Amino acid sequence: MYVGITGGIGSGKTTVADLFAENFSEAGAVVVHADELAHQVLAVGSPLIPEVARAFGVELVDDAGVLNRRALGNIVFASPSKLKVLESLVHPEVARLARLARDQAPSGSVVFYDVPLLVEKNMHEQFDQILVVESPMDLRRERLIRRGLTLDEIDGRVGAQATDLERRAIADFVIVNDAGLDRLADQVRNVWAALSA
Ligand code: ATP
Repeated sequence: MYVGITGGIGSGKTTVADLFAENFSEAGAVVVHADELAHQVLAVGSPLIPEVARAFGVELVDDAGVLNRRALGNIVFASPSKLKVLESLVHPEVARLARLARDQAPSGSVVFYDVPLLVEKNMHEQFDQILVVESPMDLRRERLIRRGLTLDEIDGRVGAQATDLERRAIADFVIVNDAGLDRLADQVRNVWAALSA
């Protein structure tokens, strides 16, 4: 079974995915994070590095082959068309690695793919089930400020994402993450029970 986990920035989707991994790995849960794959495809030695250098400037890659992610981020977040170019390089490779992870999971696994832009990238048909994580905006802001984002950065990112309403429209399960981690773990347990019923 292939389950998409999504939610707005700071909603807690990665925490939810990690709770499935922590509690249900032995029962067959396999968790894949799109953000980790996106990081991996721009790591030293990745075949994408020369393409990124060609598209955005050779000075972004040092002699050891390390990409200056911060400088690349500054370039693409200042230019929607450049962001599109980067996405056109990164997204197909991330999708390929996600498919590989899903296909290599032992038979009978429940593979969870934690992917921020599931709705925005129209990915919902790939999944057997979709779990949406929601949190009140004030809590999301608090968490993101703790992570070092400014209010302007938060508003920009939230504004560029789908809304909770749009995510709910394609959800099979909704977890409202508005309390502590114990409560969240209970909700995760309930979803696991429903998925494995
Ligand atoms: P992003 O879109 O930025 O990747 P996300 O939706 O994956 O965010 P998380 O990284 O899971 O969100 O959570 C954001 C922060 O909030 C993390 O530091 C996490 O530990 C914390 N957090 C999430 N849910 C709870 C909760 N119920 N209680 C306490 N802390 C929480």
